[in-house]
Amino acid sequence: MRVAVINYDSCKPDKCSIECVRFCPINRSGSKAIEIDQSKLGKPVIYEETCIGCNICVKKCPFEAISIVNVPDNLSKEVIHRYGTNGFELFGLPILKQGYVIGLLGKNGAGKTTILKILSGEIIPNFGDVEKQPSIETALQRFRGKEIFSYLNDLYNKKLKVVHKIQYIEYAARLLRGEVSQLLKRVDERGKLDEIKELLYMHSIWNKEISTLSGGELQKTLIAATLSREANVYAIDEPSSYLDIRERINVAKGIRELTKNKYVITVDHDLIVLDYIADFVSIVYGESGVYGKVSKTYSTRVGINNFLNGYLPAENMRIMDHKIQFYLKDITDLDLSRNTSEKIKWTSLSKTLDGFSLMTEQGSAREGEIIGIVGPNGIGKTTFIRILVGEILPDNGSIIPSGLSLSYKPQRIVPEYDGTVKEYLESVSKDVLSTSSWFYTEVTRRLKLHRLLDSNVADLSGGELQKMYIAGALAKEAHIYLLDEPSSYLDVEERYIVAKAIKRITRERKSVTFLVDHDLAIHDYIADRLMVFSGTPGKSGKASEPLSLSKGMNNFLKEIGLTFRRDAETGRPRANKIGSYLDRIQRDRNEYYSM
Ligand code: ADP
Ligand code: ADP
Ligand code: SF4
Ligand code: SF4
Repeated sequence: MRVAVINYDSCKPDKCSIECVRFCPINRSGSKAIEIDQSKLGKPVIYEETCIGCNICVKKCPFEAISIVNVPDNLSKEVIHRYGTNGFELFGLPILKQGYVIGLLGKNGAGKTTILKILSGEIIPNFGDVEKQPSIETALQRFRGKEIFSYLNDLYNKKLKVVHKIQYIEYAARLLRGEVSQLLKRVDERGKLDEIKELLYMHSIWNKEISTLSGGELQKTLIAATLSREANVYAIDEPSSYLDIRERINVAKGIRELTKNKYVITVDHDLIVLDYIADFVSIVYGESGVYGKVSKTYSTRVGINNFLNGYLPAENMRIMDHKIQFYLKDITDLDLSRNTSEKIKWTSLSKTLDGFSLMTEQGSAREGEIIGIVGPNGIGKTTFIRILVGEILPDNGSIIPSGLSLSYKPQRIVPEYDGTVKEYLESVSKDVLSTSSWFYTEVTRRLKLHRLLDSNVADLSGGELQKMYIAGALAKEAHIYLLDEPSSYLDVEERYIVAKAIKRITRERKSVTFLVDHDLAIHDYIADRLMVFSGTPGKSGKASEPLSLSKGMNNFLKEIGLTFRRDAETGRPRANKIGSYLDRIQRDRNEYYSM
């Protein structure tokens, strides 16, 4: 069976010679596999029944608009939904179980949001028949006898009420006004507001205006609003973006506590959170923007491990050509013991801003070094970097040398640029778009930004916007890079592409990168040393000198009161339940981050 998908945003018949149609061997033999369709504004359609999958059109198209994938024939029985002729196709659905949290794990563009929309009743599946208007009657007929039938039957007969927290919270923020407490009181259908406030630690933001919230504060507010609504089904898309580790675990606990006996489905790319929150996991694999297939349901530990191993044993399916491995190393390929030149040095620093004060230990960073920064939100991480590059003057202390240039990717990404992706990237650096450059091959193309060049920045998804801003920040030549939460909205593979690019750029340009991220696995992967920020968010923060990774992680987790063990099979970090046997043993041994 073949899935032929045309990205109609990329297809530009007025700028090509219609190579796709002209070179097709089936067309040349007098039959028709691809032709221009006037109802598609003069763009082509591909007939999957006659196409032989030779990929000639794929290679000939100058805009990489066509994808043709061969999938096993038996998948044809599992088609659930298709977005129009030659559009993205989804195969299979996860099974929801009342009283359990189902986690979805998979790359971006594989159909996770589509699944949430189908299970919320926002999309009625068309089973690949794009000509007919989908109907509830047909859908129920098609699902009769399947495990999911009774769920969908109740959903369509309005016996199930669904609340859905969307992925890209900035969209919601634009529509909301007033104080956090006012918003939450308006949606408090369960009378559980006090409990929610407590579980999600929302005291300090209770009376804040929504328009002034940080990314993490906004995320907590929207999760609180979701949990305040009375529903049977809670669909929660990426609850961990912008939250620090402690908040992620609190939110995971809060969601579990407050959705007992409900249907819950959640998507998250933070494996630590997914591991903590979900009872079962389904993996959504396939090809981004082309097709997605939902795996069988696995227990959470086994599902995540299968995903990292890139292989699904129950379906005998390889889903990645490599394994993702975790190991904490204190040896970096940047030999810190040798006399690598110092790029920047600071004495102990202090600064008071309104009600917030920051103190730092003295420290330095070498040319080419990546300094990971961990700590809660609102603890002074950004303030520290702004002092380092001279944007804020410290009350005490000094930085040598002063006046280093900075390239900065802020935490919250908003589509405020008025223009296309191409115009934005060109305004930052020509390198991003020069097809012969290393940057183009390893960053622009691998992050698939080359396919978005003509899109308006205002129309991008959260992940696309994040990738555009990261590429822009890295393309700029600077002494210091500050990347504040590059992993938000990115899937696991994209996080590693970005991590590798950060490393190469920092090393080659002999710059210093300060990497703020709450995904500990990223620090595990690229940070040379770690600075730990501790204190009381919004009041006072203290920054350590750059420490070895193992010491830094241990100090950090001790400060926030969590212990992590390692999965025996894959080495991935797993949060221990507080008070569990392992948690107590590790605390006694002062081993907060198990090696
Ligand atoms: P994920 O949540 O896994 O990132 P989505 O379910 O959002 O994936 O989207 C899967 C693919 O479906 C996207 O790559 C996009 O190409 C396509 N798609 C999503 N929504 C629409 C739509 N309304 N019309 C056409 N195609 C869509
Ligand atoms: P982080 O990067 O760790 O999230 P920040 O450095 O952005 O933390 O902020 C630390 C604290 O300082 C926050 O409470 C924030 O509200 C406050 N703050 C940051 N910049 C200013 C400023 N220019 N004036 C007053 N307070 C500020
Ligand atoms: Fe031209 Fe490619 Fe579109 Fe075919 S698919 S019309 S080759 S842009
Ligand atoms: Fe024609 Fe080959 Fe393209 Fe199919 S894959 S439409 S047969 S060129």
